[in-house]
Amino acid sequence: MGYYCTVPQCTSLAGKTKNVKFHRFPRDTTMADKWNVILKRGKPYTKYSKVCSLHFTQSDYNVTNMVDMVIEFS
Ligand SMILES: [Zn+2]
Repeated sequence: MGYYCTVPQCTSLAGKTKNVKFHRFPRDTTMADKWNVILKRGKPYTKYSKVCSLHFTQSDYNVTNMVDMVIEFS
């Protein structure tokens, strides 16, 4: 199973792109909205949207606790 990063112009593909982690949008809508701003997606997210780690800085991780949102896949 593969899925792509939801961010426009990004070509990361789970299981194919190396050194990239994928994240789900948080269930907390306030946090999820914050992600959408960080990502500049310009469109609503869905619960199926996934974002790769290329779009976040270390400080983003700290601010959003998104480490908890890492999707494990094999
Ligand atoms: Zn991406």
